[in-house]
Amino acid sequence: MQVRITVSFPYEAPVSQSLFDRASAVTPGGVNSPVRAFRAVGGTPRFMVSGAGPYLTDADGREYVDLVCSWGPMILGHSHPEVIAAVQDAVARGTSFGTPGAGEVELAEEIVARIEPVEQVRLVSSGTEATMSAIRLARGFTGRPKVIKFAGCYHGHVDALLAAAGSGVATFGLPDTPGVTGAQAGDTIVLPYNDLEAVRAAFAAHPGEIACVITEASPGNMGVVPPLPGFNQGLKDLCAGNGALYISDEVMTGFRVSKAGWYGIDGVRPDLMTFGKVMGGGFPAAAFGGRADVMAHLAPAGPVYQAGTLSGNPIATAAGVAQLRLLDDAAYEKVDAVSAELRGLVTAALAKEGVAHRVQNAGNMFTVFFTDAEVTDYEGAKAQDAFRFTAFFHSMLSQGVYLPPSAFESWFVSTAHDTAAVERIAAALPAAARAAAEATA
Ligand code: PLP
Repeated sequence: MQVRITVSFPYEAPVSQSLFDRASAVTPGGVNSPVRAFRAVGGTPRFMVSGAGPYLTDADGREYVDLVCSWGPMILGHSHPEVIAAVQDAVARGTSFGTPGAGEVELAEEIVARIEPVEQVRLVSSGTEATMSAIRLARGFTGRPKVIKFAGCYHGHVDALLAAAGSGVATFGLPDTPGVTGAQAGDTIVLPYNDLEAVRAAFAAHPGEIACVITEASPGNMGVVPPLPGFNQGLKDLCAGNGALYISDEVMTGFRVSKAGWYGIDGVRPDLMTFGKVMGGGFPAAAFGGRADVMAHLAPAGPVYQAGTLSGNPIATAAGVAQLRLLDDAAYEKVDAVSAELRGLVTAALAKEGVAHRVQNAGNMFTVFFTDAEVTDYEGAKAQDAFRFTAFFHSMLSQGVYLPPSAFESWFVSTAHDTAAVERIAAALPAAARAAAEATA
């Protein structure tokens, strides 16, 4: 079913608004994850009631082409019949056992088979848990306290990793959010992204103290800002030369940008890796894994404690296994092709209206930055004309295209984004580009 949307922003979304009012009474800010609240762009967050293929339908009955894909996981589109069948089959057998189960073995084997540096893997329920546990393991393995991370990289809401946003205080390892103590953030060293000299200097300033460097394999959380050639290899070499572990966070890129994630593209071999999103097929499943000698330090094999009541949940693992098995070479070719087509369409529309922009991609993930300078770090991302994105976003929304409600996020596509979905996006772009051109700060 295709619904032509002719209204233009601001337009009413009365059912979503009433749900948002109710939500705001019982949930802080009305949402369970901040970006969903539309604060960066304003307006009423759309409450979605169903998804099918490339489309989402909101509580007011409007249909949108979805370019968020649940922030990455829905790489086969919504309600893929084979994933749904696997879930129905699993749920009919029970929802949680608190014992080992065959599904978690299958999911672990699927991950190990795809990603060569992962010799052993532990399943958890969220990307946050994965990065938190990987860092604990790195500290336990090396016996060292300090962690290097990069401004603009997001690794979930781990206390020690929220010293992140590139502000002056963050640079000194002070907490970025109330509730994180100096002690929790004090061992975090925040450096500018893509700056190997800064990493070299940090190792020199803290000899024998740095447990690990954690980086997004290719960042998507300041918008898509790929590593410059040699950056990840440089990190790996600096870690190896200084007795620290190199942790590649592939929660976003893993199983999305290729069968083996970003590792499948740049081939730099991490000591530990973290995963989430795609591997759960839309359910809470995540993982960390890597070198067997490091993973052997994890309880019950070793002394570093880590656990989870719902880790390896049978429904989540069934969905993840079903989704990963469907992700063959042809699926990635399709997602890459849709992404390339959309990037071309967005560029053409914005260029026609004379809007300064830069479309950056990491495989099929991409962001439209409203600047004409290449963005290589968080400072560069923040320097864009984000107000133009706001106008662009609302025009697209009013025409039935759901973009991430922030200028600092990746757009995601799926195998289900067919010609009809792409045509709907293409039809919306000229007005959105005009809105971006006419926007004022
Ligand atoms: N790491 C990266 C690179 C992410 O993009 C995210 C979430 O967006 C996380 C970690 C945290 O994952 P979760 O939201 O599942 O806790």
